[in-house]
Amino acid sequence: MPARTGRDYIERLSASGATVQIHGETLTGGIPEHPAFRRVVETYARLYDLQHEPELRELMTYRSPSSGERVGISFMVPRTVEELVKRREMMSVWARASNGMLGRTGDYLNSCLMALSEAGPWFEQADAAFAENVRRYYEMVREHDLLLTHTLVPPQSNRSAPPSEQLGGEVMARIVAEDDNGIVVRGARLLATIGPTADELLVFPSTVLRGRPEDAPYSYAFAVSCDTPGLRFLCRESADHGRSHFDHPLASRFEEMDAIVVFDDVRVPFERCFMLGHPELCNGFYTETSAAHHMTHQVTARTTAKTEFMLGLITLLTEAIGIEQFGHVQENVAEVIVALEGIRAFVRAAEADAAPNRYGVMTPRWESLNAARNWYPKLYQRFPEILRKLGAAGLMALPTEADVTGPAHLDVERYLQSATLSGPERVRLFRLVWDTCISAFAGRQALYEYYFFGDPVRMAAALVGSYDRAPYRERVRAFLASDGPIAEPVADPIAAG
Ligand SMILES: Cc1cc2nc3c(=O)[nH]c(=O)nc-3n(C[C@H](O)[C@H](O)[C@H](O)COP(=O)(O)OP(=O)(O)OC[C@H]3O[C@@H](n4cnc5c(N)ncnc54)[C@H](O)[C@@H]3O)c2cc1C
Repeated sequence: MPARTGRDYIERLSASGATVQIHGETLTGGIPEHPAFRRVVETYARLYDLQHEPELRELMTYRSPSSGERVGISFMVPRTVEELVKRREMMSVWARASNGMLGRTGDYLNSCLMALSEAGPWFEQADAAFAENVRRYYEMVREHDLLLTHTLVPPQSNRSAPPSEQLGGEVMARIVAEDDNGIVVRGARLLATIGPTADELLVFPSTVLRGRPEDAPYSYAFAVSCDTPGLRFLCRESADHGRSHFDHPLASRFEEMDAIVVFDDVRVPFERCFMLGHPELCNGFYTETSAAHHMTHQVTARTTAKTEFMLGLITLLTEAIGIEQFGHVQENVAEVIVALEGIRAFVRAAEADAAPNRYGVMTPRWESLNAARNWYPKLYQRFPEILRKLGAAGLMALPTEADVTGPAHLDVERYLQSATLSGPERVRLFRLVWDTCISAFAGRQALYEYYFFGDPVRMAAALVGSYDRAPYRERVRAFLASDGPIAEPVADPIAAG
């Protein structure tokens, strides 16, 4: 089957019997019509349709090596820097289509799976069958263009104890039975964004597992269809309240649901298991396979698109109310420009300094991407903060579409006009600013960016622990030891590898 259309996506979702609990209801069907999901499903469908637009087809798809059909480029294994750039160009199309607000478009986990499928020798350290399982699963997902989500983190019950010691070890999803046919999983995982609207769920290792025997049941990587019996998604409250694009311009389009994942004795066939046991291997699951590199490459394409959107929005806001000439306002706009150029530079540097990994996959330079993914969670927090500061009370002096078109329209025309915009135009713009920096949708976006790759505090610790600082330490030592008029010339650390 070639890259899917929006209709293919909706038809498959309509046929799914996934168990989804939301607002007190239990659904086992009808997801594409449900008010909490209908509009984000439409959005995802439109993204799939883009793959078939005549002017985008070349950019977004390539010929499958197995079927010869055109399939999504995010499945393509890059062998050259040009192919890596092609992947990013495709990912940027989807990222710009949501202004970077969708974190789980298919390209994110397609990138992960692509890297895992090529890392066969790494999986063979545990079992040759795992390497084969991953490769076959990747091909199946590629050929059906399935939408994947993932769940990695244990429920937040007691972070000071390992999973096996929390509440009798019964909270976190664990393997309770295993035989030649597969495993049975019981317990929960903290979250899966888009779980109810995805086709498949990847249940991958938590970031750090201890290698003790009692931790073995918590060490695994597998994939299940979202409508596997025993699997349940318990959703948070939806931020899409059915309001118009005018009133809730982002929440009415890009409200990706987050859901707790419950495994009620879920049977996973062996061919869908990619790792069982081996906590020490599980801890290197993302970095040793280069999955982290390709996932982060996708994320930086998205965060670039999101930062472009922020710059456009801040520019329109400051022009609208005539505040652009004030020094501190320009300082804030400059901050966003620097952020945009910074994030672009990280992406371009990672591509320019890419190299084949040990499995022959062209892999963007990790140090650049790792710096970007440590930077953005904190950087992003500034954008809504700046918008709130510059929009000020204008973000509350903000009627709805019904007022703009209803009996209050004359007041809107007269009292809400701005330096550059009519009253209705200004309300439309300010509602977008509000949905970016104040609404429930905006709050979730800020939290999402902050925790996108995990806890920034522990990510910083991992960065410090893994970054090769030896050349810099040696350089300073050499300078301390020298009496010369200048520091001695040294090799460029990047060129030296
Ligand atoms: C909107 C949203 C969507 C998400 N979607 C997904 C998804 O699709 N799939 C998925 O797998 N995950 C998802 N997550 C979860 C995300 O991976 C976690 O939020 C992240 O890993 C942090 O874990 P936590 O939220 O459990 O925080 P915790 O680990 O509970 O941390 C809470 C606080 O305690 C501190 N803390 C806790 N333990 C330690 C420690 N050992 N050392 C130092 N400080 C500590 C942290 O710094 C933090 O301030 C999502 C999160 C959000 C907010």
